[in-house]
Amino acid sequence: MPNKEIPYKIYLEESELPKQWYNVRADMKNKPAPLLNPATLKPMTFEDLRPVFCDELVRQELDDTTAYFDIPEEIQNFYKMYRPSPLVRAYCLEKQLDTPAKIYYKFEGNNTSGSHKLNSAIAQAYYAKKQGLKGVTTETGAGQWGTALSMACSYFGLDCNVYMVKCSYEQKPFRREVMRTYGATVTPSPSNTTNVGRKILEEFPGTSGSLGCAISEAVEAATTKEGYRYVLGSVLSQVMLHQSIIGLETKTALDKYDVHPDIIIGCAGGGSNLGGLISPFMGEKLRGENDYRFIAVEPASCPSFTRGKYAYDFCDTGMVCPLAKMYTLGSGFIPSASHAGGLRYHGMSSILSQLYDDKLMEAVSVEQTAVFEAAVQFARIEGILPAPESSHAIRVAIDEALKCKETGEEKTILFGLTGTGYFDLTAYQRYNDGTMTDYIPTDEDLEKGFAGLPKVE
Ligand SMILES: *Cc1c(COP(=O)(O)O)cnc(C)c1O
Repeated sequence: MPNKEIPYKIYLEESELPKQWYNVRADMKNKPAPLLNPATLKPMTFEDLRPVFCDELVRQELDDTTAYFDIPEEIQNFYKMYRPSPLVRAYCLEKQLDTPAKIYYKFEGNNTSGSHKLNSAIAQAYYAKKQGLKGVTTETGAGQWGTALSMACSYFGLDCNVYMVKCSYEQKPFRREVMRTYGATVTPSPSNTTNVGRKILEEFPGTSGSLGCAISEAVEAATTKEGYRYVLGSVLSQVMLHQSIIGLETKTALDKYDVHPDIIIGCAGGGSNLGGLISPFMGEKLRGENDYRFIAVEPASCPSFTRGKYAYDFCDTGMVCPLAKMYTLGSGFIPSASHAGGLRYHGMSSILSQLYDDKLMEAVSVEQTAVFEAAVQFARIEGILPAPESSHAIRVAIDEALKCKETGEEKTILFGLTGTGYFDLTAYQRYNDGTMTDYIPTDEDLEKGFAGLPKVE
């Protein structure tokens, strides 16, 4: 029945919710390159990673072959409190754009943390609890991940220590307060509570911090405290596995109405929401069952895919983490102060990097004022105030819909709306005041970042 009337929202019954996560690596012919031990340059083993991550999460990280992982019942039950997330047919936006394209978005902002990050936070907290740990440490940039993790930890009664990039800590006091309300300890990074933090402060006094630096501090804190492990909200393959819940729900809902998306779009910071959204669709493409166009959208100020190098790099500034092969701008690259904090990471998921290198996925970069123009347009017509990160995907979805208007093609466009923008109102203020600027790094800026890439043969 291909012509069933499509409702504004496609609902799923509780019984239709995914009971397993999907691991797209199982269907990849060219597997993502392994994480390397920075000391020996040999692939990281289970034993190498155990001091840093929970055992079960290490197993997930290293598993390139198991296609499906059961979602433990406790996690399924937590998911039921805020999932399925809405899959919306953007009828109002389509009408405004006067396009023959059909636009759908999957909205992940309908939980208190305000983004998709809760999907992995609850899984990581669950495995930490199951292993009998006392607590976890992490970093947060814009604050979404720290918020999600603090919610997940309080649910399971785990201690949660968040290293928050100092400029965010100062600029987003309300984010910090949500985390504290959920029981987390929040430390501005760099701090003098770790060796690496003290070293960075000595070298760069007055620095406002970076994600790479906060990661180094959180890893040091986890590995030096008894009963603690480190958790990360993006980039890693385990995170993308948990985020496959987004794509699996979407696919089940679309299949009910025989809808086949032609183009699937997501913003890309470390790649977890985009990877999670496209996973089941990419699986079909990899198995030769179906074809889709996938588009990763990144900020022009931090263009890992579109101007980065595919190389082994450090994941953090302190160089304490394993090396990952990814599209990267170099761990020393400091992006300009963009308002899409969640997209400012220098590197990218090694799974998405391999898919992009194999030309199975495309990438585009967009400038910040064009992104906010789309954000405001979307907020006014679809009602949701989008996060700046999510608005990157909105921008490209609108652009693709406008192309359809020119050609008359009735394409079906699906995009991931990762979160809400209530804590980003300073950015909206800049846009409304007309004082927002676009910054694009020069080739020389990028060369400086590339110069710091480790030599790995
Ligand atoms: C963190 C974040 C992102 C980017 O992270 P990915 O791992 O690339 O998905 C995008 N949108 C929102 C709202 C975020 O919080």
